[in-house]
Amino acid sequence: MKTQSEVICIPRTDIPFGWKFFCPFCHVYHSHGTGLGHREAHCTKETPFSKHGYYLIEILTCPACKNTIVRRSDNDRNCPECGQYVKRSEMIPSIELRAQKVI
Ligand SMILES: [Zn+2]
Ligand SMILES: [Zn+2]
Repeated sequence: MKTQSEVICIPRTDIPFGWKFFCPFCHVYHSHGTGLGHREAHCTKETPFSKHGYYLIEILTCPACKNTIVRRSDNDRNCPECGQYVKRSEMIPSIELRAQKVI
């Protein structure tokens, strides 16, 4: 059985594009190009991600209905709760992730 790991990513802050997430095994941020979906693991040692990689997802708040939304694909442009078309730039990163971004 294939293991599917999902990691919550946030925008990179060192450059104006791309993603990063804090790896719970390497204890550092791994950076990736922009776009949700599957990636090969950037872990430099053997971790539970090494073999199958992981899926980048993002957690956002819909500006229209204020519901928390988990996005797994860049094609998910409509809010699954209210159906509103929302651009990524209009989505509000979750409070938890905003806190993480400050680090
Ligand atoms: Zn890692
Ligand atoms: Zn909504």
